[in-house]
Amino acid sequence: MSIHSPSPLHDPHAAVPRNGDAGAMAPRADAAVAGGGWDTALPSRVRVVEVGPRDGLQNLPGFVPTEVKIGLINRLVGLGLDRIEAVAFVHPRAVPQMRDALEIMRAVRRGPTRFMGLVPNRRGTERALAAGLDMLNFVVSATESFNRANLNQSIEDSLAALADSMPLAIGAGVPMRLTISTAFGCPYEGHVDPTRVIEIARRGADLGCGEICLGDTTGMANPRQVYHLFRDLAAALPAVEVAVHLHNTRGAGAANLVAALQAGVTVFDASIGGLGGCPYAPGATGNISTEDMVHMLHEMGVDTGVDLWRLIDTARALEGALGVPLTGQVIRAGVAYALSARG
Ligand code: MG
Repeated sequence: MSIHSPSPLHDPHAAVPRNGDAGAMAPRADAAVAGGGWDTALPSRVRVVEVGPRDGLQNLPGFVPTEVKIGLINRLVGLGLDRIEAVAFVHPRAVPQMRDALEIMRAVRRGPTRFMGLVPNRRGTERALAAGLDMLNFVVSATESFNRANLNQSIEDSLAALADSMPLAIGAGVPMRLTISTAFGCPYEGHVDPTRVIEIARRGADLGCGEICLGDTTGMANPRQVYHLFRDLAAALPAVEVAVHLHNTRGAGAANLVAALQAGVTVFDASIGGLGGCPYAPGATGNISTEDMVHMLHEMGVDTGVDLWRLIDTARALEGALGVPLTGQVIRAGVAYALSARG
């Protein structure tokens, strides 16, 4: 073949099927063979939490119309995601982007995908439960400075608000996740002591949180740190489910993802298209992209249950609807092995 003859594999547009073209791209069956010599055990299946509609949109500067949010969520339902973080029940003055949370929850299609909502206190928990959320997400920072900057209260006050909210969630039979933000690094305090993170996680677990998520909120984590913190957390709290919320602010998102996999994490947050910036680094990339993450996991032979083709279509449609370029890379490059995946 002449170097001038283009191969379809090198044409990103030819390599990505249109909607409905191919169905779900399965994890690569040959990944174990291709990865011969890699003796670190990886989970065969993980769960994906799509945080774009809440965490992603919340970090955009302008208000996104309610119908765009509803349209996005309705397209995401049924793609095989474990859950969608759809809304936040916070004060509309604090987070104007989420002021339409109830309206969204009334309009979205209820299907096989669970809906998670962020709650900051008892009042938010009441509203979220009334709106029919399937799971709640409570956030506290690992550092005092960040908690005060982000939530205007101390860590102890945040944990007291969690304690105040838990009886409502438990009474309703709705699980509460605790997300510990800046768990790896803090823009104000720098490196975060892992024992501090594990202590906050223990407090959350004692209060009844069955899932603890560690967030690299400003993209300061490195793979070695991610691996060790999750191993330490699992050893300290073997009964809780652990999750990770990674950002790609400094390009380490995918490497940190592999480190978390190797440490046994099986619940992964990500945002469609990489939607959402980093509030402490204007212009920088924020959340890792869901379709980039799912693409890589499937190439590694790790199943997610997510329909990658339709996820990519949805990310492209979102980019068009928002009119801003998204940072996800598979939406531009196309999948690596589209032709072989389609047989
Ligand atoms: Mg985030």
